[in-house]
Amino acid sequence: MKLIMLGAPGAGKGTQAQILSDRYGIPTISTGAIIRGAIKNETPTGKMAKAYIDKGELVPDEVVIGIIKERLSESDCQSGFILDGFPRTIPQAEALDSLGIEIDKVLDIEVDDDLIITRLSGRRECSKCGATYHVANNPSKAGDKCERCASPLVTRADDNPETIKSRLDIYHSQTEPLIEYYKNKGNLAVAQGEGSLEATTDAIIKVLEG
Ligand code: AMP
Repeated sequence: MKLIMLGAPGAGKGTQAQILSDRYGIPTISTGAIIRGAIKNETPTGKMAKAYIDKGELVPDEVVIGIIKERLSESDCQSGFILDGFPRTIPQAEALDSLGIEIDKVLDIEVDDDLIITRLSGRRECSKCGATYHVANNPSKAGDKCERCASPLVTRADDNPETIKSRLDIYHSQTEPLIEYYKNKGNLAVAQGEGSLEATTDAIIKVLEG
């Protein structure tokens, strides 16, 4: 299964990708998580990407395309993967096509902007493994620690009201056109993401498995 998760920031891509990754035994590749890791480790890519991520802007295409090419060549991706947060622009989608990898399904999780804003302000992330939670909709069973690795949960630096607005604007102008792009290719599947976490998972499984 080679899957792309589409949808606005906060639509639930990361959370649902985590669930699908466990279900299908394939890795989730999150360009956002890779970039945040690079920033934390102060690598040259991380230092360069920090200014963009802090403002809620997209990191340049050539940088993320380089990251994804390297990651997809690793052995754990050979039997499938879930892309969370890539592609985010048409040139990124074209770069993925040019790698000659056949994508089985592109899953668009639909959530209205007003709900996105509420969701992102309650989102928490594990400071170590990147697992995501929400204070009301998906709290960690371990309180303010991660259920998976017991590390502290933090609020992402880019989940603040101003940056959220800019990320949503960029989503509509640069990422949303990908819905039409993949509809034309014939592998788009749409799932409603406004209900509970479980209802969204059910909707996703239905469109993926019929
Ligand atoms: P995410 O964790 O997917 O919400 O991504 C967080 C931030 O990382 C985004 O706001 C961008 O600054 C950057 N980023 C992640 N994926 C991409 C991508 N495919 N293209 C450009 N920037 C990205």
